[in-house]
Formats: sequence, C-alpha cells, structure tokens
Amino acid sequence: MKDPRLMVRPLVRQLRAYVPGEQPKVKGLIKLNTNENPFPPAPKVLAAIRAAVDGRLRLYPNPTGQALRAKLAGFHGCKPENIIVGNGSDELLALATRAFVEPETGTVQFFTPSYSLYPVLAAMHGARTNAVPLKDDFCLPCLEAGWDREAALSFVTTPNAPSGRGYANAELDGLCLRQRGLVLLDEAYVDFANENALGLALKHPHVLVARTFSKAYSLCALRVGYLVGHPELIAALQKIRESYNVNGLGQIGAQATLASLPYYRLNFRRIIATREWLTQALAGLGFQVWPSQTNFILTRPPVFPAKHWLEKLRQRKILVRWFDSPEVRPYLRM
Ligand SMILES: *Cc1c(COP(=O)(O)O)cnc(C)c1O
Repeated sequence: MKDPRLMVRPLVRQLRAYVPGEQPKVKGLIKLNTNENPFPPAPKVLAAIRAAVDGRLRLYPNPTGQALRAKLAGFHGCKPENIIVGNGSDELLALATRAFVEPETGTVQFFTPSYSLYPVLAAMHGARTNAVPLKDDFCLPCLEAGWDREAALSFVTTPNAPSGRGYANAELDGLCLRQRGLVLLDEAYVDFANENALGLALKHPHVLVARTFSKAYSLCALRVGYLVGHPELIAALQKIRESYNVNGLGQIGAQATLASLPYYRLNFRRIIATREWLTQALAGLGFQVWPSQTNFILTRPPVFPAKHWLEKLRQRKILVRWFDSPEVRPYLRM
C-alpha cells in the first residue's frame, strides 16, 4: 500500500495554511469580519461584466491584462511596464516571494502584527523569516534593533492591518532608503488613508507597491490586484506568473472600475464617516479604539475578553474578527 502522505514534500506536510476569515452563508448576518466593502460595485461595472458574459467566454483572456495595465498606467502616471496584474494582490505577494527570495538562505521580513499571510508565504517557500514587533501603539519601531536591512524581501502593510494605523510617507521613505533588499508596500487599504506611497515605487528601484480592487473597489470575488515598480522587477515577476493569471471578467470589471472613480470616492467618504462615527460611539460605551486609516477598526472591548465578545456578537448575528495571536488577543477587528 503506497502512503499518499509520503508523496507530499516534508515542507508541505508541515505547513500550517493561511486561515482566511469565515464566509458563512447565514441569512441576515451582519458581516464585519473580512473588511469587504458594504457597497456594491458601480452600476456601470456590473453592466460591463454582464455584457461580457456571452460566447466569448470560450476565448482566453489577454495574458498580461494589457488594456487594464494601460489604464492603470494612465491612472498612476507611469508606464504599463511598471505594472503587473495578478489574481488578487495575494498572488503577487506570493510571486514576489518566489522571484526575490532564495529558499533556505533568503529572509522574508515583516512587522507584527501585520498581514498574517506573509509568514505563510515564507514558510511555503522554505525561506527564513524575521518578524519584528511594532510598538505597543502599532507605530513603526526604531529600525536600529531587530530590523534587517539586508533582508531579501520586506513586506510592510500600509496602512497597517489589523491595527488600522497609518504611516507617514516620510517615515516609509526613510525605511526604504536604508533598506538594501526589496521593500513591498502593501497598500490594500490605502484609499481610506490620508497619504499613499505609490510615488516611492516610482522613485526607488527596489520598492514595489501592491494595490487591490478587492476592498475599496468592491471586487473581492473577481480577484484582481496589481504591483507598481521598476520595469526590471516587474519583468522578473511576469516571467514566473501563470500564463492567464487574471481572468477575463476580472480584467473587464477592473477597467470599468477605473471609469467610475467618482462613485467609489463618494463611498470612501461614506465609509470614513462611518468609521469615525463608530469610533466615537464605541468609545462612549467604554471600548478602546485605535485611530484608523482603513475601512476597519481595532478595538479592545470592555468587561468581557474579546473572544467572549466574538461569541456573543455571533449569537446576535454580527460577525467580527478575533485573532488568537499574542499582540492582538485583547482586540476585535470590525
Ligand atoms: C485583503 C488584503 C490583501 C489581499 O487582497 P486580494 O487582492 O483580495 O488578494 C493583501 N494585503 C492585505 C493587507 C489585505 O488586507
């Protein structure tokens, strides 16, 4: 009898997979656990996707998302060669790990807490990790101690998740300037922030910025993200991606999104206003709430431990997120 477990590489056998937020199909559930947008895509985006659902689905999509990259280049004031699109930005974070980090000897570096996918990507690749704690208030720590300026790839979630904390461009620029390895600034929530660091990817040859259509542009289901950076880095990533990594409907939905920006900007303002209102309302009830530059807040609830609140809220059909990791165990993210 052949043992299927022995067919699996030891590295993969020992992997602990990334745990995404739950997607339960419960009627009437108020779903606040995965930072999705409460507003639907713009009507013109839905119409463009619907109009593309016909016999043409038998054809392969454009392999590099050429038309989408041209529109993104116009939007960001750069060239299509500065951009690669991916099956969500998650795919691009994985590609960056594979393209820029030597297995066994290379280091993937990130702050904790930040996006919990980074250590999983490093483990999958057999790379080393350097997890550097943020300060207690989730600000960037002093980089003299612990932070490795030679690390092959440093992921920085900015604004940060799950804390919601924003970082000033000047501070990020300082971090990039002293770094000898690649820096990937993950701007999944940047549309809800005061500043964005896209200019750093166009200024420094060793800096990439990741963006996604998932959160701010209500397209989680279509899986479209992109990276902006130096054409040499982008060309390396293009070599190792899947041939048709971004599906055709995703390419069409993302292009239509760029033609409906005023609709989204109005929603950003509404979401930011709700964030500020909720922050005040919760503070009035005795919750400690960290200032947020994202579409979510991190809050320490009063009276009961956060895990009890998670369960009690769930009984009332309100789903929030709780992370069982030391830095954020007292908090809920919603
Ligand atoms: C949601 C999220 C992503 C992934 O977005 P997709 O484009 O949907 O893959 C990447 N980074 C952070 C910090 C996120 O929160």
